[in-house]
Amino acid sequence: MKKIFLGPPGSGKGTAASRVAPKFNAPHISTGDLFRQNIKEQTPIGTSAKEYMERGELVPDEIVIEMLKNRIEEDDCENGFILDGFPRTIPQAEKLAEISEIDVVINMDVPDELIVKRLSARITCEDCGEIFNLIGIPPKKEGECDKCQGKVTRRSDDEPEVVQNRLNTYKEQTEPLIDFYKDKKILKNVPCNNINQTAEETAQSVIDAIEDFTKDIQEAVSETFGSPNKE
Ligand code: AMP
Repeated sequence: MKKIFLGPPGSGKGTAASRVAPKFNAPHISTGDLFRQNIKEQTPIGTSAKEYMERGELVPDEIVIEMLKNRIEEDDCENGFILDGFPRTIPQAEKLAEISEIDVVINMDVPDELIVKRLSARITCEDCGEIFNLIGIPPKKEGECDKCQGKVTRRSDDEPEVVQNRLNTYKEQTEPLIDFYKDKKILKNVPCNNINQTAEETAQSVIDAIEDFTKDIQEAVSETFGSPNKE
């Protein structure tokens, strides 16, 4: 199953995607992580993306689309994937529709005030990208990643002045995707308005939403074509 996790920065979509992916045996593909990896390795993609990311702006569509297309053509994506942070614009969504057919879009619906609180408390492992939050999911040992013992710090684009820019960018360029996918009848909303909800609880709400969506589709199919068990 091919899935998109949509939501503003700080909605918890990355954390949810990393926990939900093993359940569906699908890779979690975060375009933000791919860019950060490219920056670390000083590749041409990393060099082009860096200045946009530092300002909290979107990297131009042609760069991100090419990078994503190459990633989803890899063997591990044969049976599906979870996209986190892509698409972020209508042209990206239109291009994606040309190269792959998405089954469901999970919209993490989070009130603005919660996003600002979450982002200002978010810290990330410099080595493996694991996400922690000083409110709710702190690392077990201060400053150290639970998973790989790497150094846990605040991402430079999680600094307050860049956060506001990223939120504006989301509202202007990414939010229209909610209606885009609603019109295609593949959007499932997951309300996330409780700051005390644990990462596991959020991931479970997302899994429930995906299972509900699959059930609704199966019911609609059997209403139209009849149940496969009936003669
Ligand atoms: P994220 O980790 O998803 O918050 O992404 C971090 C930054 O990477 C964003 O603020 C953008 O600058 C860039 N980025 C990630 N995904 C995309 C995308 N689909 N389109 C354009 N820029 C992106």
